[in-house]
Amino acid sequence: MSFRKLSVYAKFINILLLLFFASSLLYISCVSQKKLQIELQFHGRFLYDRLGISELPWSVWANSVEGRNIYLLEISEGSPVTVIFGAFHGSEPLSGEFALQFAEFLYNEYNNYLDCKVVIIPAVNPDGLVQGKRTNANGVDINRNFPTENWTKNYTKKSQYPGEYPASEPETQAVIKILEKYQPDKIISIHTPLKMVNYNGPAKKLAFLISERNGYPVSHYIGYPTPGLFGTYAGVERNIPTITLELPREPLQKVWEENREALFEAIKYDKNFDNF
Ligand SMILES: [Zn+2]
Repeated sequence: MSFRKLSVYAKFINILLLLFFASSLLYISCVSQKKLQIELQFHGRFLYDRLGISELPWSVWANSVEGRNIYLLEISEGSPVTVIFGAFHGSEPLSGEFALQFAEFLYNEYNNYLDCKVVIIPAVNPDGLVQGKRTNANGVDINRNFPTENWTKNYTKKSQYPGEYPASEPETQAVIKILEKYQPDKIISIHTPLKMVNYNGPAKKLAFLISERNGYPVSHYIGYPTPGLFGTYAGVERNIPTITLELPREPLQKVWEENREALFEAIKYDKNFDNF
C-alpha cells in the first residue's frame, strides 16, 4: 500500500473512531437523562399518591390540565398568614416532599397552638410531577405563565415555554385565586436544586432570617431573565414578601434537618412586630 493510500486509510479510521466516541457519549447522556427522568417520575408519582391517602384534612382547591387534584391544607388561624407552595415544577419532587412533610409536622405538632395561619399547597403542578417533567401537561412552564408586565411569548428553552397567553393554565389560575382568597402576608415557594434563598418584593429581612438558619446564600437575582415569574407577580407587582427557597438535590432527611427550623421561624415572622 502506498504512503498516500495509508494516510487516507488512517484518516478514515480516525473519523470512524471520533464518530464512535461521539455517539457513545450521546448515548450515555441520553441514558442518564432518561434514568433521571424515571427517578423523578417515580418520586413524583409517590408524592402524588401519598397526598391522595394522607390523613390530614386536605381540600381539593383546583384541578390540573389532566384533571388531577391540586391539594391545599389550611393550618390554624391568626396572623400573619403564610402561603407555602411546592412543585411548581414537576421535575422538582423534593420541593413537594418537603412541603408535605412540613404540613404533617405543623399539623400534628402545632395545629391548635400556632397563633398564625399557614396554607400549604405541596403540588401546584401534579401532571408534571407524575410525568417527571418541569412543565404542565400542556408543556407550559407555570413559573413563566404569570400575568406580569414583562410576560412575553418569546422563549429560548422549550422547558420554559410561557404558554399562549398569560395565566392560560389552570395551575396558574389556581395560584392566583389562592392569593386573592388568603391575602397572604408572605409567600414561600419551594424549588430545587440551586441551594439558595431568593427573594422578590419586600422580603430581604425574611430572606436573611432563613439564610441564617439554613446556611444557604441569599440571592436577589437568579442570574437570567425570567418573564412571567411568580416572584415578579406576587413580590414585585403586588408587594407581598416572596421567598423562593431553592433546596439542594439531596436526600429529604438532610434537607429537612437543614430547613425545618428555618421555615418554622419564617412562618412565625411578622414584619409588624419585628422581633427577630
Ligand atoms: Zn423550579
